[in-house]
Amino acid sequence: MSHIDGQTGKSGRGTAGFVASGTLAGSALLFVPIAIFSLVAWQTFGSAPQGTVTHFLIITIAVLGFSVFTGNTGVVSFGHAAFMGLAAHITGVLTMPVAQKGVFLPDLPPWLAGVEMNFLLAGLIALVIVTVIAFVIGIPIARLGGASASIATLGLLIIVYGVIVGARDYTRGSQALIGVPKTVDIPVALIFLGVAILLARIFRDSLPGLELRAMREDEPAARAIGVNVQGRRLLAWTVSAAIAALAGVLLAHFLGVYSPKEFYFQITFAILVMLIAGGMTSVSGAVVGAVLVTVLIDVLRGVEENINANWFSEPTVFGLTDIGLSLAILAVLFWRRDGLFGFWEIEELWGGWRRWFGLRAPSEVAPSQASRIDQGGALKIENVAKAFGGLRAVDGANLELRPGEIVGLIGPNGSGKTTLLGCISGALDLTAGKVVLDGTDISDLPAHRIARRRVGRTFQNIRLFAHLTVIENVKAALAASGTRLAPGAMDARARALLNELGIASYAPRRAGTLAYGLQRRLEIARALALEPRYLLLDEPAAGMNETESDELLGILGHLRESRGLGLLVVDHDLRLIMRLCDRVVVLNRGQVIAEGVPGEVQANPDVIEAYLGKRRAATRTTSAPPLGD
Ligand code: ADP
Ligand code: MG
Repeated sequence: MSHIDGQTGKSGRGTAGFVASGTLAGSALLFVPIAIFSLVAWQTFGSAPQGTVTHFLIITIAVLGFSVFTGNTGVVSFGHAAFMGLAAHITGVLTMPVAQKGVFLPDLPPWLAGVEMNFLLAGLIALVIVTVIAFVIGIPIARLGGASASIATLGLLIIVYGVIVGARDYTRGSQALIGVPKTVDIPVALIFLGVAILLARIFRDSLPGLELRAMREDEPAARAIGVNVQGRRLLAWTVSAAIAALAGVLLAHFLGVYSPKEFYFQITFAILVMLIAGGMTSVSGAVVGAVLVTVLIDVLRGVEENINANWFSEPTVFGLTDIGLSLAILAVLFWRRDGLFGFWEIEELWGGWRRWFGLRAPSEVAPSQASRIDQGGALKIENVAKAFGGLRAVDGANLELRPGEIVGLIGPNGSGKTTLLGCISGALDLTAGKVVLDGTDISDLPAHRIARRRVGRTFQNIRLFAHLTVIENVKAALAASGTRLAPGAMDARARALLNELGIASYAPRRAGTLAYGLQRRLEIARALALEPRYLLLDEPAAGMNETESDELLGILGHLRESRGLGLLVVDHDLRLIMRLCDRVVVLNRGQVIAEGVPGEVQANPDVIEAYLGKRRAATRTTSAPPLGD
């Protein structure tokens, strides 16, 4: 949406032409130690240990490839080794000397039989082909989330393996390709590792990356702030496949001889182990996991060989490496469930204290860009019904909300309030009726597009991006709503929103660590990042004490005044509803049974009946006054 750009005059797509200092520092902190070690190894080691180092560098690139998808989307991929294998076989067939092809691949079509490319060109071609293939395959996979997506990637691995083995004329089937030029040594692998680390970090820290991580934390909430979940997933999938393909190309030109088996389950699990040990969700975790697991394997192998050589000749010690590795992984996971790095990046730990103080210092608060919105338009709910199986949770409800107006939506438990909010925000499909926004029927739009039309919402059961920081929660929403600002301005905007809700001092905290009252406020701040015209709040005062709910009352009243937005507030706190709302709508069994100014509704016999009936059934008491104070 461009309404924001227009007001500030600052725009330009996200990260273009700019890399944040944290991104660079984090990449350097990972890369420099590895580079120093590798270059020393290159100068001093013999050829066998040099090979181990090169192999490690390439595998680390592969781990980064997996992590760009798995880390940002939260979907474990078993499939990326397929892209490595495809790329390796494409570059192999393009670079193999013509004489060798005559011997090992006699059935190649003539146009390929005569080709003998340089490794960089062949690698580039392989990369492009695999990336395009990955994009196409990604379209259906991006529609899936969680376990079904993982299983789809597993299927992909098996199918691609089958295809490579089946394409005998091009690949020698399950036999090894032989004679692929071995052009990759430590310096070459190192350069590409640097590129891969930087790329992975830039992607993670970019606005689409932030949207993805938000989505990983909570998909419905991400949709509710306007994240195009499928589109973003497809992007992560494609970028990660390209990095995996790069690793495949490098591995091909490191090994020189390889069969499809090289790119199947064993390498997939080795890479996943590295990711799990280091921490799935950060680039630092991926790299450090690769380092640790490689070192561990090397040490265990050494011990195993040493024991076999010097201690027992019979029986040989067998499987020590695998057992040791498994135990080490279990130990890491026992100690740190989310892997060594958890959700952190290296520079966040490194400069932790500085960042902490830096962010806590009160900074100048940018004025909110919101201006009072004209009183035009309305959000109209017309005969909306929603059935779950036989149950009509919402049964022909009508309601109208105008900008600048606060409408309370009350009703006994299970009367369909939350369901109605879901119908409006696009989280649920309507069974009947329609939702009209400023004259346009939005009933069939997906949640993220309704959000982008500036209808915000919060959730009854708080849905924050728990592992993102407080300020990242808001920035994700700014990003998803299409706000494109320079990074400093983006931070200032997010901070201004936090300030409006009185929670700016919590900016660097993980959202999941806040008290519930503050989490509810953060949810509202996040929803405000859409610059909503209409805001749907589902029990914003739930779990709050009287003081907290009075504060909330003040904040909501202020929002209406300063932004002129239309608020639809569901709450059980009738004291709050009666004091806050211009109008109150009462829902019972999915139908509107009363509507009017608070006093009127409070006295309505049908309403008292609905509440009383409910109370009788629930508690068998009739003495309590039915409605608030
Ligand atoms: P309220 O928010 O007013 O307490 P809800 O909208 O949560 O009520 O629920 C209305 C009715 O719909 C309840 O009977 C509830 O059990 C049912 N319901 C809500 N969501 C679902 C769902 N996703 N699947 C099946 N039934 C649901
Ligand atoms: Mg509810």
